[in-house]
Amino acid sequence: MSLSLLNKMAGDFRPTPPMPVLFLGHGSPMNAIEENEFVAGFRRIAADLPRPAAILCISAHWETRGTQLTAMAQPPTIHDFGGFPQALFEVQYPAPGSPALVQLTRETVQSVHLEATQTWGLDHGAWSVLRHLYPEASVPVVQMSLDYLQTPDYHYQLARELQVLRERGVLIVGSGNMVHNLRLLDWRRMNSPFAFDWAEEASEKMKRFLQEGDHKRLINYRCHGKAFEQAIPTPEHYLPMLYTLGLQQPGEKLALFNDQPLGGSLTMTSFQIG
Ligand code: ZN
Repeated sequence: MSLSLLNKMAGDFRPTPPMPVLFLGHGSPMNAIEENEFVAGFRRIAADLPRPAAILCISAHWETRGTQLTAMAQPPTIHDFGGFPQALFEVQYPAPGSPALVQLTRETVQSVHLEATQTWGLDHGAWSVLRHLYPEASVPVVQMSLDYLQTPDYHYQLARELQVLRERGVLIVGSGNMVHNLRLLDWRRMNSPFAFDWAEEASEKMKRFLQEGDHKRLINYRCHGKAFEQAIPTPEHYLPMLYTLGLQQPGEKLALFNDQPLGGSLTMTSFQIG
């Protein structure tokens, strides 16, 4: 793509008041095609948001060495799961990509080399929620990967550098789950609002830290004992939340929604910053 065309596209990102930031608990991929209170919650939130120029999504389901950005003009819908009904594999989310947002993000972030890639696309961490926020798939979407070699603080600090994007009409979305232990999931109670004691303990503490704006404790999640170890057995569903916290400005409001456990070891708790 020529530089002049890219510069013209970057003109799409005009200064705006800071866009809100979302952390979305995505849960089962089936939420993409089911009607339930959580997808209704996603729709409600989107209805009150200013229309974004583009979306930058950090999904639990894209881990790489180094941090990458999807740079294709038309990212494919990736069905990165198995054992679900055919109807889920037939879902397409044909939102365009945004090479201009990739360029803007790479220019904005100074401390890390962000690699633009033509591989990947939109995984279910992104499209299973975005199709409820923007069903017409007309807002361009770029995904940013999670570098699996890095510390929690790296992710938080990287997020802080993305602040400029909020002021250019970009909606930044972290998609994961705050409490996420599939191995301990009670599948018979998958659809009921039930939490094991440790899941409730971890969830309540996380929410307290969120409401107190105590990012430090949330970054240092490995220091809070057994309940947190069980709630976060692997970091990938938790880390997208740190990206959204890195963007919270002092005194900026944080509002929870979809705040409910499922199946004992999962929480759908989501929030909006700003
Ligand atoms: Zn997931």
